[in-house]
Amino acid sequence: MSTNVDALVLGSGPGGLAIAAALCKEKLQVGILSAAEPREIWPYTYGIWGNEVDELGLEKLLKYRWVNTVSYFGEGSKEKLSKENNPTKHCQDYGLFDKQKLQEYWLKQCDDALVQWHKGTAAKLEVNNNISRVTTKDGTILSARIIIDATGYQPVFLKVPNEGEVAVQTCYGIVGKFSSPPIEKNQFILMDYRSNHLTPSEKNEPPSFLYAMDMGENYFFLEETSLGLAPPLTLEILKDRLQKRLESKGISITHIEHEEHGLFLPMNIPIPDLKQPILGFGGAAGMVHPASGYLVGSLLRRAPNVANAIAIAMQDENRTPAEIAEKGWQALWPKELRRKQALYQFGLEKLMRFKEEQLRSFFKSFFALSKEEWYGFLTNSLSLKDLVKAMWAMFKSSPINVKWGLFEMKGREIKLLIKFLNPNI
Ligand SMILES: Cc1cc2nc3c(=O)[nH]c(=O)nc-3n(C[C@H](O)[C@H](O)[C@H](O)COP(=O)(O)OP(=O)(O)OC[C@H]3O[C@@H](n4cnc5c(N)ncnc54)[C@H](O)[C@@H]3O)c2cc1C
Repeated sequence: MSTNVDALVLGSGPGGLAIAAALCKEKLQVGILSAAEPREIWPYTYGIWGNEVDELGLEKLLKYRWVNTVSYFGEGSKEKLSKENNPTKHCQDYGLFDKQKLQEYWLKQCDDALVQWHKGTAAKLEVNNNISRVTTKDGTILSARIIIDATGYQPVFLKVPNEGEVAVQTCYGIVGKFSSPPIEKNQFILMDYRSNHLTPSEKNEPPSFLYAMDMGENYFFLEETSLGLAPPLTLEILKDRLQKRLESKGISITHIEHEEHGLFLPMNIPIPDLKQPILGFGGAAGMVHPASGYLVGSLLRRAPNVANAIAIAMQDENRTPAEIAEKGWQALWPKELRRKQALYQFGLEKLMRFKEEQLRSFFKSFFALSKEEWYGFLTNSLSLKDLVKAMWAMFKSSPINVKWGLFEMKGREIKLLIKFLNPNI
């Protein structure tokens, strides 16, 4: 069997559905080929800053929203333990998506536009000057003018350059009830880097932080997280640290509703080869923010622009799949965004090798930036000029241990700075 559409999207995770829905809005004929069922429940929980959904008019898609949002970075030195428990207040709402609502939001747009659904696993790709063809494992052939690979962090067809080890965020988390509240009522903690529950030798190991939220009705979600490391911290270490954190406060777990282990989030996935004749979107296309690991806000903001570029490119019937893909890549990864990505990846390299005390000081300085600056950094919504200004302001206000860490070049950092200056090399 062979079916022909304008655009065939591979994958039906958030990336696949976001771009498929945006292409439907452009009145293109869209097909989706996915190994998953359309309404299969996504495995992760998706967090986002309140402002991001408000700006998109999508606040109704949130299941939870917290106003009391804080982090704890302590003072970074034993002499100042008295200030250890002073929170850094973010004064910025944070939310968790109702992931079924988010999925339905995109699916409805696809269903209304009569998207063709195909369940199957893409196995073979052929692209010539007229058409692109995907063959599934069971032999079905699907054709389209453009193929969009949104099959996640290990894309089935996209070519992604090998730029060395990928930093991975690891987490061990539980949703449950506790002998007493482990965090304040109605509170959301982005990062709790306090570590007095660890022995001096444990403190010398790569640090981790607590990401936590009050879920209501006496349930709390606590997740011990390692920001981004290659090789990553093991789940056993993270589980042990979470238990020690609770024990140090005299708190025990009385009921586990849900246990999350084995979650691995690659942070610094390279931008794919922009000269290939298919397009990518989502985790496959390097869209995860290297500093935060977040993706959904970026999918919602960037999909309409990419879909529009594809629709315009397709108006010329003589355009080849490679030419259409090129227009899509230009819209997805314009030069300014590639330069910013190099800066973010440079920053992540630094964080990966900072010791605990340096990390705490770094984040303290980072969240002392104006709200517009740190929020714009974390959501990738600053212009390149403003991003550089914010990073420079942070460098100037950092304590000497952080300044030195930022200044000292190691590993692939020089290469990333060169990429920042010229992302085409
Ligand atoms: C632990 C963790 C926590 C995260 N937390 C957040 C968060 O709080 N906020 C946020 O914004 N982001 C978060 N992310 C990042 C990101 O939002 C998710 O990783 C997201 O699921 C990536 O979406 P995707 O559609 O690109 O890929 P995926 O969700 O991996 O979807 C890939 C799709 O492709 C299909 N597929 C795969 N291979 C084939 C094939 N050969 N043929 C056909 N179909 C195929 C799969 O069935 C699936 O439908 C988190 C990620 C992880 C891992």
